[in-house]
Amino acid sequence: MGDRSVGDRLKDFEEVDCGLTPQEAIEEAGRCLQCKKPGCVDGCPVNIDIPAFIALIAQGKFLEAAASIRQQNLLPAICGRVCPQETQCEALCILGKKEAPIRIGQLERFAADQERAKGLTIPARKALTGKRVAVIGSGPAGIVAAGELAKCGHSVVMYESLHAPGGVLTYGIPSFRLPKDVVKAEIDLILAMGVDLRLNHLVGRTVSYEELDSFDAIFLGTGAGLPYFMGIPGENLSGVYSANEFLTRVNLMHAERFPEYDTPVARMNRVVVVGGGNVAMDAARTARRMGAEVTLVYRRREEDLPARAAEVFHAKEEGVMFITCANPVRILGDQSVSGIECIRMQMCNLDESGRPIPEPIDNDTFTLACDVVIQAIGQGPNPVLVSQIPGIEKGRAGNVVTGEDGRTSHPKIFAAGDVTTGAATVIMAMGGAKQAARSINRMLASQ
Ligand code: FAD
Ligand code: SF4
Repeated sequence: MGDRSVGDRLKDFEEVDCGLTPQEAIEEAGRCLQCKKPGCVDGCPVNIDIPAFIALIAQGKFLEAAASIRQQNLLPAICGRVCPQETQCEALCILGKKEAPIRIGQLERFAADQERAKGLTIPARKALTGKRVAVIGSGPAGIVAAGELAKCGHSVVMYESLHAPGGVLTYGIPSFRLPKDVVKAEIDLILAMGVDLRLNHLVGRTVSYEELDSFDAIFLGTGAGLPYFMGIPGENLSGVYSANEFLTRVNLMHAERFPEYDTPVARMNRVVVVGGGNVAMDAARTARRMGAEVTLVYRRREEDLPARAAEVFHAKEEGVMFITCANPVRILGDQSVSGIECIRMQMCNLDESGRPIPEPIDNDTFTLACDVVIQAIGQGPNPVLVSQIPGIEKGRAGNVVTGEDGRTSHPKIFAAGDVTTGAATVIMAMGGAKQAARSINRMLASQ
Protein backbone atom coordinates (compact mmCIF):
# COMPACT_ATOMS: atom_id res chain seq x y z
CA MET A 1 0.00 0.00 0.00
CA GLY A 2 3.06 2.25 0.37
CA ASP A 3 3.32 5.52 2.29
CA ARG A 4 0.70 8.18 2.92
CA SER A 5 1.16 11.34 0.86
CA VAL A 6 3.50 13.97 2.32
CA GLY A 7 0.74 16.57 2.38
CA ASP A 8 -1.50 14.30 4.46
CA ARG A 9 1.09 13.04 6.87
CA LEU A 10 2.43 16.49 7.81
CA LYS A 11 -1.03 17.33 9.14
CA ASP A 12 -1.04 14.64 11.84
CA PHE A 13 0.98 12.03 13.75
CA GLU A 14 -0.68 8.99 12.13
CA GLU A 15 1.46 6.17 10.74
CA VAL A 16 3.27 6.96 7.47
CA ASP A 17 3.81 3.41 6.18
CA CYS A 18 0.46 1.76 5.36
CA GLY A 19 1.84 -1.82 5.32
CA LEU A 20 0.93 -4.60 2.89
CA THR A 21 -2.51 -5.73 1.73
CA PRO A 22 -3.24 -9.49 2.06
CA GLN A 23 -2.74 -9.89 -1.69
CA GLU A 24 0.61 -8.04 -1.60
CA ALA A 25 1.73 -10.11 1.41
CA ILE A 26 0.89 -13.41 -0.31
CA GLU A 27 2.71 -12.32 -3.49
CA GLU A 28 5.77 -11.15 -1.55
CA ALA A 29 5.85 -14.35 0.51
CA GLY A 30 5.56 -16.35 -2.73
CA ARG A 31 8.95 -14.99 -3.86
CA CYS A 32 10.75 -16.71 -0.93
CA LEU A 33 12.99 -19.60 -2.04
CA GLN A 34 12.52 -21.49 1.26
CA CYS A 35 16.30 -21.90 1.49
CA LYS A 36 17.64 -25.04 3.22
CA LYS A 37 20.28 -22.92 4.95
CA PRO A 38 18.44 -19.60 5.30
CA GLY A 39 20.83 -16.67 5.71
CA CYS A 40 17.93 -14.52 6.89
CA VAL A 41 17.63 -16.48 10.15
CA ASP A 42 21.34 -15.96 10.89
CA GLY A 43 20.69 -12.22 10.61
CA CYS A 44 17.85 -12.25 13.16
CA PRO A 45 19.03 -11.55 16.73
CA VAL A 46 16.11 -13.59 18.16
CA ASN A 47 16.32 -16.42 15.57
CA ILE A 48 12.79 -16.28 14.20
CA ASP A 49 12.10 -19.20 11.83
CA ILE A 50 11.67 -16.79 8.94
CA PRO A 51 11.10 -19.26 6.07
CA ALA A 52 8.45 -21.07 8.16
CA PHE A 53 6.33 -17.99 8.83
CA ILE A 54 6.75 -16.76 5.26
CA ALA A 55 5.54 -20.14 3.91
CA LEU A 56 2.40 -19.83 6.07
CA ILE A 57 1.71 -16.32 4.72
CA ALA A 58 2.14 -17.61 1.16
CA GLN A 59 -0.60 -20.18 1.93
CA GLY A 60 -2.89 -17.47 3.33
CA LYS A 61 -2.48 -18.86 6.89
CA PHE A 62 -1.89 -15.46 8.48
CA LEU A 63 -2.74 -16.32 12.09
CA GLU A 64 -0.58 -19.44 11.98
CA ALA A 65 2.25 -17.26 10.62
CA ALA A 66 1.86 -14.88 13.57
CA ALA A 67 1.83 -17.79 16.03
CA SER A 68 5.03 -19.10 14.46
CA ILE A 69 6.76 -15.72 14.90
CA ARG A 70 5.55 -15.46 18.50
CA GLN A 71 7.48 -18.59 19.46
CA GLN A 72 10.64 -16.46 19.28
CA ASN A 73 9.43 -12.88 19.40
CA LEU A 74 6.96 -11.45 21.92
CA LEU A 75 6.75 -8.06 20.15
CA PRO A 76 6.31 -8.82 16.41
CA ALA A 77 4.14 -5.84 15.44
CA ILE A 78 6.72 -3.52 17.02
CA CYS A 79 9.75 -5.26 15.51
CA GLY A 80 8.12 -5.43 12.08
CA ARG A 81 7.97 -1.64 12.17
CA VAL A 82 11.21 -0.51 13.82
CA CYS A 83 13.87 -3.22 13.37
CA PRO A 84 16.69 -2.29 11.00
CA GLN A 85 15.92 -5.32 8.79
CA GLU A 86 17.99 -3.89 5.95
CA THR A 87 21.16 -4.55 8.00
CA GLN A 88 19.93 -7.79 9.61
CA CYS A 89 17.67 -10.50 8.13
CA GLU A 90 17.06 -8.76 4.79
CA ALA A 91 20.78 -8.04 4.35
CA LEU A 92 21.41 -11.81 4.42
CA CYS A 93 18.47 -12.86 2.23
CA ILE A 94 19.93 -14.74 -0.74
CA LEU A 95 17.58 -12.98 -3.17
CA GLY A 96 19.29 -9.68 -2.34
CA LYS A 97 22.30 -10.77 -4.41
CA LYS A 98 20.36 -10.43 -7.66
CA GLU A 99 17.14 -8.56 -6.93
CA ALA A 100 15.29 -7.04 -3.98
CA PRO A 101 15.48 -9.20 -0.84
CA ILE A 102 12.24 -10.48 0.64
CA ARG A 103 10.57 -7.71 2.67
CA ILE A 104 10.77 -9.74 5.86
CA GLY A 105 9.99 -6.81 8.17
CA GLN A 106 6.84 -5.93 6.25
CA LEU A 107 5.71 -9.57 6.30
CA GLU A 108 6.33 -9.82 10.05
CA ARG A 109 4.33 -6.64 10.60
CA PHE A 110 1.55 -7.90 8.32
CA ALA A 111 1.15 -11.20 10.20
CA ALA A 112 1.22 -9.45 13.59
CA ASP A 113 -1.35 -6.85 12.48
CA GLN A 114 -3.68 -9.57 11.19
CA GLU A 115 -3.39 -11.34 14.53
CA ARG A 116 -4.08 -8.15 16.52
CA ALA A 117 -7.15 -7.41 14.41
CA LYS A 118 -8.57 -10.84 15.30
CA GLY A 119 -7.70 -10.53 19.02
CA LEU A 120 -4.45 -11.63 20.68
CA THR A 121 -4.22 -14.85 22.70
CA ILE A 122 -2.51 -14.65 26.09
CA PRO A 123 0.59 -16.93 26.06
CA ALA A 124 0.38 -19.99 28.29
CA ARG A 125 2.01 -19.77 31.71
CA LYS A 126 3.47 -22.62 33.80
CA ALA A 127 2.31 -23.27 37.38
CA LEU A 128 3.58 -20.72 39.90
CA THR A 129 7.05 -21.49 41.24
CA GLY A 130 6.85 -19.27 44.32
CA LYS A 131 9.94 -17.34 43.15
CA ARG A 132 9.79 -13.54 42.84
CA VAL A 133 11.69 -11.44 40.32
CA ALA A 134 11.92 -7.63 40.17
CA VAL A 135 12.23 -6.19 36.67
CA ILE A 136 13.39 -2.58 36.63
CA GLY A 137 12.33 -0.64 33.53
CA SER A 138 9.50 -1.43 31.11
CA GLY A 139 11.26 -0.82 27.78
CA PRO A 140 11.67 -3.72 25.32
CA ALA A 141 14.32 -5.35 27.55
CA GLY A 142 12.13 -5.20 30.67
CA ILE A 143 8.96 -6.28 28.85
CA VAL A 144 10.61 -9.31 27.24
CA ALA A 145 12.35 -10.35 30.47
CA ALA A 146 9.05 -9.99 32.36
CA GLY A 147 7.15 -12.00 29.72
CA GLU A 148 9.70 -14.83 29.54
CA LEU A 149 9.91 -15.08 33.37
CA ALA A 150 6.13 -15.00 33.76
CA LYS A 151 5.83 -17.83 31.21
CA CYS A 152 8.12 -19.91 33.45
CA GLY A 153 5.76 -19.41 36.38
CA HIS A 154 7.75 -16.84 38.37
CA SER A 155 5.97 -13.88 39.99
CA VAL A 156 7.20 -10.71 38.32
CA VAL A 157 6.97 -7.14 39.61
CA MET A 158 7.94 -4.61 36.91
CA TYR A 159 8.88 -1.12 38.13
CA GLU A 160 8.67 1.85 35.74
CA SER A 161 9.60 5.42 36.64
CA LEU A 162 7.28 7.03 34.06
CA HIS A 163 3.48 7.04 34.09
CA ALA A 164 3.26 4.73 31.06
CA PRO A 165 5.10 1.50 30.18
CA GLY A 166 7.17 0.89 27.03
CA GLY A 167 10.38 2.91 27.50
CA VAL A 168 11.59 4.37 24.21
CA LEU A 169 8.76 2.58 22.36
CA THR A 170 6.36 4.92 24.16
CA TYR A 171 8.26 8.12 24.89
CA GLY A 172 10.90 8.13 22.13
CA ILE A 173 9.77 6.65 18.80
CA PRO A 174 6.99 8.86 17.40
CA SER A 175 3.56 7.43 16.59
CA PHE A 176 3.99 8.18 12.87
CA ARG A 177 6.55 5.33 12.89
CA LEU A 178 5.17 3.23 15.72
CA PRO A 179 1.51 3.80 16.64
CA LYS A 180 0.92 3.76 20.38
CA ASP A 181 -2.06 1.38 20.16
CA VAL A 182 0.30 -1.20 18.61
CA VAL A 183 2.73 -0.78 21.53
CA LYS A 184 -0.09 -0.93 24.07
CA ALA A 185 -1.61 -4.13 22.61
CA GLU A 186 1.72 -5.99 22.74
CA ILE A 187 2.52 -4.81 26.29
CA ASP A 188 -1.00 -5.58 27.51
CA LEU A 189 -0.53 -9.16 26.39
CA ILE A 190 2.55 -9.52 28.62
CA LEU A 191 0.75 -7.88 31.54
CA ALA A 192 -2.16 -10.27 31.03
CA MET A 193 0.18 -13.10 31.98
CA GLY A 194 0.05 -11.73 35.51
CA VAL A 195 3.00 -9.30 35.53
CA ASP A 196 2.49 -6.73 38.30
CA LEU A 197 3.35 -3.36 36.68
CA ARG A 198 4.09 -0.51 39.09
CA LEU A 199 4.18 2.82 37.26
CA ASN A 200 5.62 6.07 38.72
CA HIS A 201 8.19 4.03 40.69
CA LEU A 202 11.73 5.33 40.21
CA VAL A 203 13.89 2.63 41.76
CA GLY A 204 16.78 4.29 43.54
CA ARG A 205 14.58 7.26 44.55
CA THR A 206 10.90 6.53 45.28
CA VAL A 207 11.73 2.85 45.87
CA SER A 208 15.11 2.21 47.48
CA TYR A 209 17.52 -0.39 46.15
CA GLU A 210 17.39 -2.08 49.59
CA GLU A 211 13.63 -2.64 49.16
CA LEU A 212 14.44 -5.07 46.33
CA ASP A 213 16.23 -7.34 48.80
CA SER A 214 13.26 -9.65 49.25
CA PHE A 215 13.26 -10.65 45.54
CA ASP A 216 14.98 -13.86 44.47
CA ALA A 217 16.46 -12.14 41.39
CA ILE A 218 16.61 -8.66 39.88
CA PHE A 219 16.63 -7.79 36.17
CA LEU A 220 17.95 -4.35 35.18
CA GLY A 221 16.48 -2.94 31.98
CA THR A 222 16.86 0.73 32.75
CA GLY A 223 18.00 1.74 29.27
CA ALA A 224 20.18 4.62 28.08
CA GLY A 225 18.03 7.67 28.69
CA LEU A 226 20.79 10.05 29.79
CA PRO A 227 21.29 12.52 26.93
CA TYR A 228 24.74 13.75 25.94
CA PHE A 229 25.28 17.46 25.29
CA MET A 230 27.83 19.19 23.09
CA GLY A 231 29.27 21.33 25.88
CA ILE A 232 29.23 24.53 23.78
CA PRO A 233 28.31 28.08 24.90
CA GLY A 234 24.58 28.83 24.90
CA GLU A 235 23.34 25.37 25.86
CA ASN A 236 21.46 26.78 28.85
CA LEU A 237 19.34 29.16 26.77
CA SER A 238 15.61 28.67 26.69
CA GLY A 239 14.71 26.76 23.52
CA VAL A 240 17.56 24.24 23.73
CA TYR A 241 16.37 20.65 24.21
CA SER A 242 17.86 17.21 24.21
CA ALA A 243 15.99 15.05 21.67
CA ASN A 244 14.93 12.85 24.60
CA GLU A 245 13.22 15.74 26.37
CA PHE A 246 11.65 17.10 23.19
CA LEU A 247 10.30 13.72 22.07
CA THR A 248 9.05 12.87 25.58
CA ARG A 249 7.19 16.17 25.75
CA VAL A 250 5.42 15.37 22.49
CA ASN A 251 5.04 11.56 22.54
CA LEU A 252 4.20 11.15 26.20
CA MET A 253 2.91 14.55 27.34
CA HIS A 254 1.23 15.63 24.04
CA ALA A 255 2.94 19.03 23.80
CA GLU A 256 1.67 19.23 20.21
CA ARG A 257 -1.80 19.67 21.70
CA PHE A 258 -0.87 22.37 24.26
CA PRO A 259 -2.90 23.98 25.93
CA GLU A 260 -5.36 21.05 25.77
CA TYR A 261 -2.51 19.13 27.51
CA ASP A 262 -0.50 21.19 29.99
CA THR A 263 3.06 20.47 28.77
CA PRO A 264 4.35 23.09 26.31
CA VAL A 265 7.42 23.26 24.08
CA ALA A 266 9.06 26.56 23.14
CA ARG A 267 7.59 28.50 20.19
CA MET A 268 9.02 26.81 17.10
CA ASN A 269 9.27 28.61 13.79
CA ARG A 270 12.75 27.53 12.84
CA VAL A 271 14.34 24.47 14.43
CA VAL A 272 17.90 23.18 14.12
CA VAL A 273 18.40 19.50 14.96
CA VAL A 274 21.98 18.42 15.63
CA GLY A 275 22.86 14.79 14.84
CA GLY A 276 22.38 12.18 12.13
CA GLY A 277 20.87 9.08 13.76
CA ASN A 278 17.31 7.77 14.03
CA VAL A 279 16.75 9.95 17.08
CA ALA A 280 17.69 13.07 15.10
CA MET A 281 15.34 12.06 12.25
CA ASP A 282 12.50 11.44 14.72
CA ALA A 283 13.02 14.85 16.35
CA ALA A 284 13.23 16.62 12.97
CA ARG A 285 10.12 14.93 11.56
CA THR A 286 8.20 15.62 14.77
CA ALA A 287 9.13 19.32 14.61
CA ARG A 288 7.96 19.41 10.95
CA ARG A 289 4.57 18.09 12.05
CA MET A 290 4.42 20.92 14.58
CA GLY A 291 4.73 23.42 11.73
CA ALA A 292 8.41 24.36 12.02
CA GLU A 293 10.96 24.85 9.26
CA VAL A 294 13.63 22.28 10.17
CA THR A 295 17.35 22.10 9.36
CA LEU A 296 19.43 19.12 10.39
CA VAL A 297 23.15 19.71 10.99
CA TYR A 298 25.45 16.68 10.85
CA ARG A 299 29.22 16.71 11.22
CA ARG A 300 30.08 13.95 8.72
CA ARG A 301 29.02 13.38 5.08
CA GLU A 302 25.55 12.36 3.93
CA GLU A 303 26.74 8.81 3.21
CA ASP A 304 27.90 8.52 6.83
CA LEU A 305 24.46 9.29 8.35
CA PRO A 306 23.83 6.51 10.89
CA ALA A 307 20.02 6.74 10.57
CA ARG A 308 18.10 4.11 8.60
CA ALA A 309 17.95 5.01 4.91
CA ALA A 310 14.14 4.99 5.07
CA GLU A 311 14.17 7.59 7.86
CA VAL A 312 16.46 9.88 5.90
CA PHE A 313 14.28 9.44 2.81
CA HIS A 314 11.09 10.23 4.74
CA ALA A 315 12.69 13.23 6.48
CA LYS A 316 13.74 14.69 3.12
CA GLU A 317 10.34 14.01 1.59
CA GLU A 318 8.78 15.88 4.50
CA GLY A 319 10.95 18.94 3.86
CA VAL A 320 13.71 18.58 6.46
CA MET A 321 16.79 20.40 5.12
CA PHE A 322 20.17 18.72 5.61
CA ILE A 323 23.50 20.49 6.17
CA THR A 324 26.27 17.91 6.32
CA CYS A 325 29.99 18.36 7.15
CA ALA A 326 29.16 21.04 9.72
CA ASN A 327 29.22 21.18 13.51
CA PRO A 328 27.76 23.73 15.96
CA VAL A 329 30.26 25.79 17.96
CA ARG A 330 27.93 28.23 19.78
CA ILE A 331 24.22 28.71 20.37
CA LEU A 332 23.29 32.38 20.06
CA GLY A 333 20.69 34.36 22.00
CA ASP A 334 20.02 36.50 25.03
CA GLN A 335 17.60 34.54 27.22
CA SER A 336 16.16 32.45 24.40
CA VAL A 337 17.75 30.94 21.32
CA SER A 338 18.04 33.23 18.29
CA GLY A 339 20.50 31.23 16.17
CA ILE A 340 23.33 28.77 16.03
CA GLU A 341 26.89 29.24 14.78
CA CYS A 342 28.44 26.26 12.99
CA ILE A 343 31.84 25.46 11.54
CA ARG A 344 32.40 23.49 8.37
CA MET A 345 34.13 20.14 8.73
CA GLN A 346 36.43 18.11 6.50
CA MET A 347 36.86 14.35 6.62
CA CYS A 348 40.34 13.22 7.62
CA ASN A 349 41.69 9.83 8.73
CA LEU A 350 39.47 6.87 9.52
CA ASP A 351 38.65 5.81 13.08
CA GLU A 352 38.83 2.20 14.37
CA SER A 353 35.39 1.42 12.93
CA GLY A 354 36.35 2.75 9.49
CA ARG A 355 34.36 5.98 9.74
CA PRO A 356 36.04 9.23 8.71
CA ILE A 357 37.12 11.51 11.53
CA PRO A 358 35.67 15.01 11.00
CA GLU A 359 37.99 17.97 11.63
CA PRO A 360 36.92 21.64 11.66
CA ILE A 361 38.12 23.90 8.82
CA ASP A 362 39.70 26.95 10.45
CA ASN A 363 37.54 30.10 10.44
CA ASP A 364 34.98 28.60 8.03
CA THR A 365 31.88 29.40 10.08
CA PHE A 366 28.26 30.28 9.26
CA THR A 367 25.16 31.15 11.25
CA LEU A 368 21.62 29.77 11.05
CA ALA A 369 18.74 31.77 12.54
CA CYS A 370 16.46 29.58 14.71
CA ASP A 371 14.37 29.65 17.88
CA VAL A 372 14.82 26.02 18.95
CA VAL A 373 17.90 23.77 18.98
CA ILE A 374 17.41 20.01 19.53
CA GLN A 375 20.53 18.02 20.33
CA ALA A 376 20.46 14.37 19.24
CA ILE A 377 24.10 13.40 19.61
CA GLY A 378 23.66 10.24 21.67
CA GLN A 379 22.76 9.09 25.13
CA GLY A 380 24.25 6.95 27.89
CA PRO A 381 22.93 4.50 30.51
CA ASN A 382 20.53 5.80 33.15
CA PRO A 383 22.72 6.20 36.26
CA VAL A 384 20.11 6.68 39.04
CA LEU A 385 19.83 3.07 40.14
CA VAL A 386 23.05 1.60 38.81
CA SER A 387 25.16 4.13 40.75
CA GLN A 388 23.59 2.85 43.99
CA ILE A 389 24.32 -0.85 43.59
CA PRO A 390 27.43 -1.58 45.66
CA GLY A 391 30.26 -3.20 43.73
CA ILE A 392 28.42 -3.78 40.44
CA GLU A 393 30.94 -3.74 37.57
CA LYS A 394 30.51 -0.90 35.09
CA GLY A 395 32.17 -0.05 31.79
CA ARG A 396 33.74 3.27 30.84
CA ALA A 397 30.45 4.77 29.66
CA GLY A 398 28.67 3.78 32.88
CA ASN A 399 27.11 0.70 31.24
CA VAL A 400 26.53 -2.40 33.35
CA VAL A 401 28.97 -5.15 32.42
CA THR A 402 27.43 -8.61 31.81
CA GLY A 403 28.46 -11.95 30.40
CA GLU A 404 26.63 -13.35 27.37
CA ASP A 405 24.12 -14.88 29.74
CA GLY A 406 23.12 -11.48 31.14
CA ARG A 407 24.80 -12.04 34.51
CA THR A 408 26.33 -9.00 36.18
CA SER A 409 29.12 -9.15 38.78
CA HIS A 410 26.37 -9.32 41.44
CA PRO A 411 25.10 -12.91 41.91
CA LYS A 412 21.42 -11.96 42.08
CA ILE A 413 21.36 -9.20 39.44
CA PHE A 414 21.02 -9.67 35.66
CA ALA A 415 20.81 -6.99 32.99
CA ALA A 416 20.22 -6.44 29.27
CA GLY A 417 19.33 -3.76 26.75
CA ASP A 418 20.75 -0.27 26.44
CA VAL A 419 21.90 -0.18 30.08
CA THR A 420 24.47 -2.81 29.11
CA THR A 421 25.25 -1.93 25.49
CA GLY A 422 24.66 1.83 25.44
CA ALA A 423 22.13 3.14 22.90
CA ALA A 424 21.45 0.23 20.52
CA THR A 425 18.30 -1.32 19.03
CA VAL A 426 14.98 -2.74 20.16
CA ILE A 427 15.79 -6.24 18.93
CA MET A 428 19.23 -6.25 20.58
CA ALA A 429 17.55 -5.31 23.87
CA MET A 430 15.00 -8.09 23.37
CA GLY A 431 17.62 -10.70 22.45
CA GLY A 432 19.70 -9.83 25.52
CA ALA A 433 16.65 -9.90 27.77
CA LYS A 434 15.72 -13.39 26.55
CA GLN A 435 19.21 -14.66 27.40
CA ALA A 436 19.08 -13.03 30.83
CA ALA A 437 15.61 -14.46 31.55
CA ARG A 438 16.88 -17.95 30.67
CA SER A 439 19.82 -17.49 33.06
CA ILE A 440 17.53 -16.24 35.84
CA ASN A 441 15.25 -19.22 35.28
CA ARG A 442 18.20 -21.62 35.48
CA MET A 443 19.43 -20.00 38.68
CA LEU A 444 15.98 -20.10 40.31
CA ALA A 445 15.42 -23.71 39.26
CA SER A 446 18.66 -24.75 40.93
CA GLN A 447 17.82 -23.16 44.29
P1 FAD B 1 14.44 1.74 27.21
O1 FAD B 1 13.55 1.57 26.05
O2 FAD B 1 15.16 3.03 27.35
O3 FAD B 1 13.58 1.50 28.53
C1 FAD B 1 14.11 1.72 29.81
C2 FAD B 1 12.98 2.02 30.77
O4 FAD B 1 13.48 1.99 32.10
C3 FAD B 1 12.36 3.39 30.57
O5 FAD B 1 10.97 3.27 30.47
C4 FAD B 1 12.78 4.17 31.81
O6 FAD B 1 11.80 5.12 32.20
C5 FAD B 1 12.89 3.05 32.83
N1 FAD B 1 13.80 3.34 33.95
C6 FAD B 1 15.06 3.85 33.90
N2 FAD B 1 15.58 3.93 35.15
C7 FAD B 1 14.61 3.48 36.00
C8 FAD B 1 14.56 3.32 37.40
N3 FAD B 1 15.60 3.63 38.18
N4 FAD B 1 13.42 2.84 37.97
C9 FAD B 1 12.35 2.50 37.18
N5 FAD B 1 12.35 2.63 35.82
C10 FAD B 1 13.48 3.10 35.25
N6 FAD B 1 15.81 1.07 17.89
C11 FAD B 1 15.40 0.34 16.82
O7 FAD B 1 15.63 -0.87 16.79
N7 FAD B 1 14.72 0.92 15.78
C12 FAD B 1 14.40 2.25 15.79
O8 FAD B 1 13.78 2.72 14.83
C13 FAD B 1 14.78 3.04 16.92
N8 FAD B 1 14.46 4.35 16.99
C14 FAD B 1 14.74 5.06 18.11
C15 FAD B 1 14.29 6.35 18.24
C16 FAD B 1 14.53 7.08 19.39
C17 FAD B 1 14.00 8.48 19.51
C18 FAD B 1 15.32 6.49 20.44
C19 FAD B 1 15.63 7.28 21.70
C20 FAD B 1 15.79 5.20 20.32
C21 FAD B 1 15.50 4.46 19.17
N9 FAD B 1 15.90 3.15 19.04
C22 FAD B 1 15.51 2.40 17.96
C23 FAD B 1 16.68 2.47 20.11
C24 FAD B 1 15.78 1.57 20.96
O9 FAD B 1 14.56 2.21 21.21
C25 FAD B 1 16.48 1.18 22.25
O10 FAD B 1 17.67 0.50 21.91
C26 FAD B 1 15.60 0.28 23.13
O11 FAD B 1 14.40 0.92 23.48
C27 FAD B 1 16.35 -0.14 24.39
O12 FAD B 1 15.47 -0.85 25.22
P2 FAD B 1 15.66 -0.88 26.80
O13 FAD B 1 14.53 -1.68 27.33
O14 FAD B 1 17.05 -1.32 27.11
O15 FAD B 1 15.58 0.64 27.29
FE1 SF4 C 1 13.43 -16.72 1.92
FE2 SF4 C 1 15.49 -14.92 1.66
FE3 SF4 C 1 15.27 -16.37 3.91
FE4 SF4 C 1 15.95 -17.62 1.60
S1 SF4 C 1 17.18 -16.07 2.73
S2 SF4 C 1 14.46 -18.33 3.16
S3 SF4 C 1 14.76 -16.39 0.13
S4 SF4 C 1 13.79 -14.84 3.15
